[in-house]
Amino acid sequence: MATATESVIKPDHGAKREHFIFSDEHQELRESMRSWVQKELTPHRHEWEENLWPDSILKRAGDLGYLGLCYPEEYGGQGGDYFYSLVRAECMSYSGCGGLNMGFAVHTDMATPPIHLLGSEELKQRYLPASIAGEKISSIGITEPGAGSDVASIRTTARRDGDEYVINGSKTFITNGLRAHYIVLVTKTDPDAGHDGITLFVVDIRDEDGKEVPGFSVSRKLEKMGMHASDTGELTFEDVRVPAENMLGQEGKGFYHISWELQGERLVAAVGCVAGAERVFERTLEYAKEREAFGRPIGRFQVIRHKFAEMSVKIEAARQMVYMTAWRFGQGEYPVREITQAKLYASRVIEEVANECIQIHGGYGYMKEYEVERAYRDARLNRIGAGTDEIMLEVIGRSYGL
Ligand SMILES: Cc1cc2nc3c(=O)[nH]c(=O)nc-3n(C[C@H](O)[C@H](O)[C@H](O)COP(=O)(O)OP(=O)(O)OC[C@H]3O[C@@H](n4cnc5c(N)ncnc54)[C@H](O)[C@@H]3O)c2cc1C
Repeated sequence: MATATESVIKPDHGAKREHFIFSDEHQELRESMRSWVQKELTPHRHEWEENLWPDSILKRAGDLGYLGLCYPEEYGGQGGDYFYSLVRAECMSYSGCGGLNMGFAVHTDMATPPIHLLGSEELKQRYLPASIAGEKISSIGITEPGAGSDVASIRTTARRDGDEYVINGSKTFITNGLRAHYIVLVTKTDPDAGHDGITLFVVDIRDEDGKEVPGFSVSRKLEKMGMHASDTGELTFEDVRVPAENMLGQEGKGFYHISWELQGERLVAAVGCVAGAERVFERTLEYAKEREAFGRPIGRFQVIRHKFAEMSVKIEAARQMVYMTAWRFGQGEYPVREITQAKLYASRVIEEVANECIQIHGGYGYMKEYEVERAYRDARLNRIGAGTDEIMLEVIGRSYGL
């Protein structure tokens, strides 16, 4: 017979928490990929912060099957559902290397999805298997020196010439821009048609050996506040020729196509923010249990304890928003308002959490060796990249008919 103590229901704080969107197969991937990240990536995070992450990581990830999780088998993928993409982004957060995670996500969740959704069969065969194998590295070019949030104001043109288009213009802040073999490029095919004059192309910018194609160049390598392991470039296109069959989707419908791409980009950014916030929280929790002041671990001060409580609520709220929205997206819905809300909120949460974690570390939080200052610098990008906070608020506000 159970004793009185045994029959008492106790809180299961330490229990494994599995969300209903994940199956046993997702959890298996989580375990194997996380272990790979911790063994092969995490130990190099400092070195890559100085010298950028090496291209060989993508090849290795391709060999292990991590790049094609949600793509059909005919292109070398595993044919899994959208939630594998979330697991992948969450696993990457263990690398402690925001720049790597960003370059990786550009490849898996930003540049290749438009090819899969909008490309002709021939285009998919040409780009997807090599990208899924990690042999071709991709990038995405929306932003220009004169137009970021206002995508319809871009100036890069693609002019038809026989069976080709000729591209002129420049793109800036391009992640993977210094190494990518190709770029999913947003251009204007009809500069006078506003939103209806925009067209997407897949443009080869380097050959297999990394040599730039005629007319393409990196005009500037950009220095950043954080994400140092990632390369960011300003790119110039001068009469770069691209075959007409490299068009993605319909001519003149590129604004709507890229708006779709941005939903996946924002969702994966939000997932990364939640996972990233959780990693800093965990590390800081350990610190607060060990570091002593006035004869007790600092985590035992009510003020500090409450900081953790506040952070945990925010992280959990962001996680639920992201998972529910991802579930709808994975079911084929197009929940733009909720994706935007999740991206806005998760970006704010990781910044607040990283900032608070620096505070909890005291002076050590300001030192590089504890890595919270790096997490903070890396996190700051999220309120700008993939659409700024202000643009997110505009999208949400307008969705109510205002
Ligand atoms: C590290 C890094 C990596 C990036 N990687 C890529 C990449 O791979 N590919 C790519 O295409 N882009 C990339 N970007 C670009 C990023 O998406 C843009 O920086 C972002 O969309 C904002 O555009 P902008 O910088 O031109 O700012 P702007 O659009 O000039 O905005 C400046 C300020 O004005 C505000 N603002 C603008 N319009 C409005 C409005 N209507 N209402 C209220 N406020 C407004 C903005 O919120 C912001 O605060 C990257 C950026 C960074 C920093």
